[in-house]
Amino acid sequence: MEKRTAIVTGGTRGMGRAISLELAEKGYRVCAVYRSDDESARKLEHELQKMSRESFVCRADVSKQDTAQKIAGQVWELWGRIDVLVNNAGIFDFCYIEDMSEEYLDHILNVNFKSQFFMMKSVIPYMKELGGGRIVNASSISGHFADCGLTGYGASKAAVNMLTRIGAGELGPWGITVNAYAPGIIHTDMTHEMISERGDEQVKDLCLQRFGSPEDVAALVSFLASEEAGYITGEIIGIDGGMFKVQNASRAYSRVKQENQ
Ligand code: NAP
Repeated sequence: MEKRTAIVTGGTRGMGRAISLELAEKGYRVCAVYRSDDESARKLEHELQKMSRESFVCRADVSKQDTAQKIAGQVWELWGRIDVLVNNAGIFDFCYIEDMSEEYLDHILNVNFKSQFFMMKSVIPYMKELGGGRIVNASSISGHFADCGLTGYGASKAAVNMLTRIGAGELGPWGITVNAYAPGIIHTDMTHEMISERGDEQVKDLCLQRFGSPEDVAALVSFLASEEAGYITGEIIGIDGGMFKVQNASRAYSRVKQENQ
């Protein structure tokens, strides 16, 4: 059987790195796309090639439509199939409405939302030719609830949720599933500062009282990318240790503490 292939954007650091490695471990040929951090990219490429000599990293800005088209075209030319697209690339930043410039808003929407749209649009013809495919998008808990200072980020992720659901509807007839993962707080470079500053307080209100790891997310994405996940589409799946659905989880821990005294 021919090897399955995957494009993972933002695939060289954080969650994307764990996703690239997990898919390579499962036997996929992986193209991991990054924007500028050559050192992380080199390290990942070295690890990937230990598993599949054909996997490679690709430096490109996926917020540009022509770049997205080139990546998809290059992978198709090389491997003759695109089974999976993981739209993971993203940036995170706080900015209050009053302080926000048009450039800032454009930038965050371009990188977090339009990149996913461009990549999705670029792989559709190839997945149709293949007779199916899996598209997995990075959303966030911030796409569901309103968080002060996160107008740009939250709006970009809410738009991803809509792209995911509408994509599932439009691409269902072609055997292409579209789902999203919505992480809470995961240990990566993106959250390092936030966790150092406020983590001790924030973690108390998670059902599992720990932040997630990139590997937690990679396990979910790997399942959504698999052939076994063929009847799941249009879902925005939380991976947040209970952060979104449950309030006051710390009460349960206080009770356990009392019981153990
Ligand atoms: P991260 O560690 O900051 O890594 C981001 C990755 O995206 C890097 O590989 C980066 O490339 C790449 N990237 C950024 N802009 C790009 C562009 N224009 N073109 C190509 N690649 C680009 O991020 P993370 O924490 O793993 O987050 C991954 C995804 O999950 C993001 O979409 C994020 O919004 C979402 N998310 C994260 C959390 C969390 O707690 N960490 C929570 C909710 C949602 P370089 O390495 O070259 O910079």
